[in-house]
Amino acid sequence: MIQLKDIGKTYPPRQGFDGVTALEGVNLTIEKGDIFGIIGRSGAGKSTLLRLVNGLESPTSGQVWVDGEEITRLEERDLRFARQKIGMIFQHFNLLWSRTVWENVAFPLEVAGKSKTEIKRKVDGLLERVGLTDRANAYPSQLSGGQKQRVGIARALANDPKVLLCDEATSALDPETTTSILKLLKEINRETGITLLLITHEMSVVRSICHRVAVMEEGRVIEKGTVKEVFRNP
Ligand code: ADP
Ligand code: ADP
Repeated sequence: MIQLKDIGKTYPPRQGFDGVTALEGVNLTIEKGDIFGIIGRSGAGKSTLLRLVNGLESPTSGQVWVDGEEITRLEERDLRFARQKIGMIFQHFNLLWSRTVWENVAFPLEVAGKSKTEIKRKVDGLLERVGLTDRANAYPSQLSGGQKQRVGIARALANDPKVLLCDEATSALDPETTTSILKLLKEINRETGITLLLITHEMSVVRSICHRVAVMEEGRVIEKGTVKEVFRNP
């Protein structure tokens, strides 16, 4: 579902800063329906990798494929189309604060030009799925962290993506809330077969949800395999 082939990424030098090699020789294959974790310390290159997958950034060398399409070859117009296959959730939720829960989830459907009837059906269904039907008219500021991330998840799923990218999605949440959000993600993966790619610095997240994992250090993948293989006891 996602393939990175021999990826290198160097940010060019800017005033006062040297160029930075953020990724080097990265090869990854993520199968359809997998829950794949990328773990590594801050600065390892995880966010850069995620931005390459949804085409927000181009690699210096190598190719990125998503669902049979080479993202790295697409023009901006086709890229916007391809991005509808990709949902994303964030550490700090990135909700629209002046809009209600319902309107936040409706937003990507409006952008995609869906009809009012379709939007209503879809939003009501998603809010029910994430357990927020009774909060439809609340504003994000009135929600708990876990509820905000549930809105984030519902919004990310609005256009039925094939891939859900999770950028430190539970890092701002307490352990109990983290558990319930990971459980929800796992259920959605099981129900829909959506491919999950998550980046995290927390081993516990990988252990509790991922099937496979890649460990990153200084822009390189230093280990990959099933969670059992990679984190086996010596
Ligand atoms: P992680 O997500 O694992 O913390 P990043 O991908 O954010 O790692 O960063 C990898 C390296 O690339 C770091 O050295 C970081 O400073 C650098 N970097 C990230 N984004 C940019 C950018 N937009 N411009 C220049 N350097 C960047
Ligand atoms: P409640 O306040 O009890 O949740 P509402 O009257 O606000 O009930 O909502 C009734 C229906 O309208 C629900 O299915 C809800 O999801 C939907 N809804 C809520 N906000 C909007 C909106 N901005 N546009 C269209 N439908 C909405």
